Amino acid sequence: MSSSNQRISPRIAVLGCGPKSVALHVRSAALSNLNRKTVMVVSWDMSEPAANWDGKYGFTDGKCKLGTSPLKDVTFPGTLGADPELDKELVKFSWTSFLRCTGQMDSWVDRSYPPCTHQKWAEYLRWALKESKADHRKGIIEKVEPKDGKVAVYIKGNSKPEIFDGFVFTGPGKCIPLPIVNNRRNDRLLDAKTFWEEKNRIKGKICLIGTGESCAAILESFVDSKPDADISVVTMFGYLPMRDEGYSANSMFTNPTGWEELPVEVRKTIINRADRGVLSPRCHSEVAASQLQLREIYGQVLQAQCMRNGVELKIKAAQAVVVQKFDYVIASIGFDILPSLKQLLSSSRFPNPDSSIIEKIDYTLCLPQFKCNIHVPGLAGIAQGPGFPNLSCLSLAASRIFAAYESS
Ligand SMILES: Cc1cc2nc3c(=O)[nH]c(=O)nc-3n(C[C@H](O)[C@H](O)[C@H](O)COP(=O)(O)OP(=O)(O)OC[C@H]3O[C@@H](n4cnc5c(N)ncnc54)[C@H](O)[C@@H]3O)c2cc1C
Repeated sequence: MSSSNQRISPRIAVLGCGPKSVALHVRSAALSNLNRKTVMVVSWDMSEPAANWDGKYGFTDGKCKLGTSPLKDVTFPGTLGADPELDKELVKFSWTSFLRCTGQMDSWVDRSYPPCTHQKWAEYLRWALKESKADHRKGIIEKVEPKDGKVAVYIKGNSKPEIFDGFVFTGPGKCIPLPIVNNRRNDRLLDAKTFWEEKNRIKGKICLIGTGESCAAILESFVDSKPDADISVVTMFGYLPMRDEGYSANSMFTNPTGWEELPVEVRKTIINRADRGVLSPRCHSEVAASQLQLREIYGQVLQAQCMRNGVELKIKAAQAVVVQKFDYVIASIGFDILPSLKQLLSSSRFPNPDSSIIEKIDYTLCLPQFKCNIHVPGLAGIAQGPGFPNLSCLSLAASRIFAAYESS
């Protein structure tokens, strides 16, 4: 980047160095390469770039496959034809450029585009970071405060904050916990993060609670490593629901034009059919072709009680509340961004974000009623488009965030 560009550019800080962060770095580099006005991006990750995908830090063993196509990369969907010059620049950081530049393109095409593993996705993200000469640093962001219309970002170990024009919060948030009797835990009650650290010692009667993307990863891991496992899945649907991956649903995730005109209840239904709590058709096929003996238990888990050799679950079924005991329970009931966000913004000078803000997130994916820019794409699904919290339109998310700085 030229020094004149650097002097005039607004700067934003990003918590995390996963795909959303890489999409921002790449957009910044592409605009800068074209000598256009850009936004300087600095990201911090407490582990390493793409940590949540390579299998060393939970959420996956790295061998699981991405539910979405890797063609939905950090440059997707680009400018949708609005700015061909920028698209040409962005494509240099695409999945296919990565394959070409690392000698993997011929194999991927000749093998008929096999699904991308989480580890390969991490490799791609790190390549795109390097290619874009991103300013990414190792560190834990502990606190964020408003400062004269800007944002003060506190990194653990540094006494003074760094001041930025805006802040972007990424990552899945915290695993939603199950209510536990007397809050007494044991090492047999796992969640979508801890499962991966413990999976080799799991045996006997296993219960998986939930039916979303992280359950898909867990089921696929059993298919590969313990195909004779005895697994019960507690589901409020009574069966394992399949994700709607039709053209019409997919296109809403890519380009949410018209989304805001739909009633909120309709938007929630679309998200529930095509994103939350549903398993991809590919996961269904893998489970069907495996030896895995799955039992579905209809109901809602009300409470878990950790025992000496297992976990007892109180399940609200159709007619009554039943109690069932398992050797291991994996509660994969979703993620919640708000607790981590509240902790970060705990300074009294920020309004306390509660769940009502979710429907009011603005065009630039910013929290409403804040006097400075705090972008939370992970919460923007209902208000702005179903693809913003996931990997469906990473480049559009970056472009919406940059739009907040167009006039500065
Ligand atoms: C198992 C699994 C599979 C998934 N598969 C898909 C899929 O196929 N397609 C799809 O669209 N979505 C998928 N998702 C959803 C996906 O997690 C979200 O789309 C995710 O939020 C996108 O990445 P990100 O950049 O926001 O965050 P992440 O890639 O999760 O990165 C967040 C980073 O923040 C870092 N961090 C956290 N706290 C701090 C802190 N205080 N300071 C500094 N750094 C910090 C972490 O180390 C991490 O590296 C999947 C989710 C899971 C759990």
